[in-house]
Amino acid sequence: MSATNEGQDEMAERCDNCGRETPHTVSVQIMTESSRPENAEYSREPYRVSECRVCGTQTALRMNNA
Ligand SMILES: [Zn+2]
Repeated sequence: MSATNEGQDEMAERCDNCGRETPHTVSVQIMTESSRPENAEYSREPYRVSECRVCGTQTALRMNNA
């Protein structure tokens, strides 16, 4: 068995805070946007979260599925 950080990857992306391309740790997180049970199916949205490994700024982008 190998120990891995599930769902994590490292990519070079532009960081607005750094003002240049920096290595980012990228992961996908399911975030619940509503506490209403009747909307639960529609409120759990996958977000692509990238964290700048230089300054630590996190950016979350909603991954819309058609
Ligand atoms: Zn940065």
